[in-house]
Amino acid sequence: MPTLIFDADDTLWENNVLYERVARDFFAWLAHPDEAHARAVHRDVERATVRSHGYGTVSFLRTLHDTVERLRDRPPTAAEREQVDALAAVLARHEMELVPGVVEVLTELGGRHDLRLLTKGQVAEQQAKIDASGLAGYFASVHIVAEKDVHTYRGLVHELSLRPADTWMIGNSPRSDVLPARAAGLHAVYVPNPNTWAHEHADVDDPDVLVVGSLREITAHL
Ligand SMILES: [Mg+2]
Repeated sequence: MPTLIFDADDTLWENNVLYERVARDFFAWLAHPDEAHARAVHRDVERATVRSHGYGTVSFLRTLHDTVERLRDRPPTAAEREQVDALAAVLARHEMELVPGVVEVLTELGGRHDLRLLTKGQVAEQQAKIDASGLAGYFASVHIVAEKDVHTYRGLVHELSLRPADTWMIGNSPRSDVLPARAAGLHAVYVPNPNTWAHEHADVDDPDVLVVGSLREITAHL
């Protein structure tokens, strides 16, 4: 039976749009006279923070605090830290907005495929979102990893004894889902999400990647 591996954030449920809202509130709060510069500094800090501290809300908050420090040339005060944390409190609630049709798609595909879930981030945080989604029961296994690169996919192929030619990776991120899965010899389905994090962008210049307009469309192909 073919295996379909699904990404979670911004593929099965909306995620980055929540972070974008907090970032928008942060820049409004910051009220820097040159917002384009503030955003550029934030992007720099974010890249460095992801490299040293990984993904997730803790890393996101650290980026905001460090951005304040870079722009104001001093560490944030306790009051500033509290204000920034308050802007981001919504993220800890794991509000769940499933992508349209996700239950129908997983129900239909689960009847003819082996379904797996692969998500990257902090274990407790990703598990909380999986629990809140109510979707875990559709998957034969759930895998939470720190990074999704070609080694991750090769490791999963080995661990689950998958045949790459019979395995599809389905996700919204060229950088984490499509390109490394292809590099590991898997098929890939790219489901673009307009709210995808800039960090996940990359060119998909591979005619063998199936690109669909929405998650619902994949049942016509798989
Ligand atoms: Mg994703």
